[in-house]
Amino acid sequence: MDRRPGRGVAELIAEGQRSFSFEFFPPRDEAGETQLWKAIQDLEPFEPTFVSVTYGAGGSNRDTTIRVTSRIARETSMTPVAHLTCVGHTRAELEAILDSYLAAGVHHVMALRGDPEEGPRAAWTPTPGGLDYATELVEMAHARGEFRIGVAAFPEGHPSAESLDADADVLVAKARAGAEFAVTQMFFRAEDYFGLVERVRDRGVDIPILPGIMPILNLAAIRRQGELIGTDVPADVVARISAKDGDPVAMRAEGITLAAELCADLLAGGAPGLHFYTLNRSKATLEIFQALQITV
Ligand code: FAD
Repeated sequence: MDRRPGRGVAELIAEGQRSFSFEFFPPRDEAGETQLWKAIQDLEPFEPTFVSVTYGAGGSNRDTTIRVTSRIARETSMTPVAHLTCVGHTRAELEAILDSYLAAGVHHVMALRGDPEEGPRAAWTPTPGGLDYATELVEMAHARGEFRIGVAAFPEGHPSAESLDADADVLVAKARAGAEFAVTQMFFRAEDYFGLVERVRDRGVDIPILPGIMPILNLAAIRRQGELIGTDVPADVVARISAKDGDPVAMRAEGITLAAELCADLLAGGAPGLHFYTLNRSKATLEIFQALQITV
């Protein structure tokens, strides 16, 4: 029986609504908490389809995901999506966290495997009594009948996937296990996104795939992160930002312009919406919205 309240992300998209969503991470201290809530308040007027909160590598940071998503459910008009990973958890622990999400009024979960504690390039070691792949977490959440489930997608392929086709097979398996929508890793070429969508559609699966947008505000940091997670920063993008070297304001502006161009290409090509990696700040997202002439 379907016991999920309200309408889900996939239903909203199927109705033809363009989806906008914002991702946050659990703040580490009081100053971070203040910054997060300012970003949430700044972005709420855009009536996002959902806002998501990532799940950290361990410790109190994980409880913060529950606390922040339940506060969003309680105090705002927005739909929170709580991320959850298999890292370091037994099945019983994962079930208990799913219980706590439901108790907090959180009915959307982003079901992820997570990365090994040594980083995204390290070999995956499953936790004894835990789960191996995100698909199993999708199955676990789906079996409850009370969750709407999102999953991760990789326009350039997950770094440990054998091929782009094998990577698409994994996303298809997650959709068949009960995932309703997918959000992509950051990427900088629209054709990588459309290639992934095509591979998934060729396999007969129509799961909405929301492109994840990360504006380049610090080129060196994004290139480092890209190397770890398998996202290439194309030479023309590097060249356009590097051309403003020595002028931090112009470099930032170019990063925003590039992100807005990517967003425009994605929407024009039929992407069902945009998912913004906000890093708990609203400024860059608001600047991109302004460039795209998206208003409240
Ligand atoms: P899976 O889908 O399980 O895939 C992991 C690897 O296993 C892939 O290489 C896949 O090809 C392979 N694989 C999967 N199933 C099989 C199978 N049956 N047989 C063989 N190989 C298989 N990390 C966090 O720690 N916290 C977060 O909150 C978080 N949020 C994220 C949000 C988004 C939108 C994205 C894109 C990533 C996020 N991540 C987060 C990072 C994510 O956890 C890592 O990218 C992780 O390495 C893969 O997670 P997954 O859910 O895609 O795993």
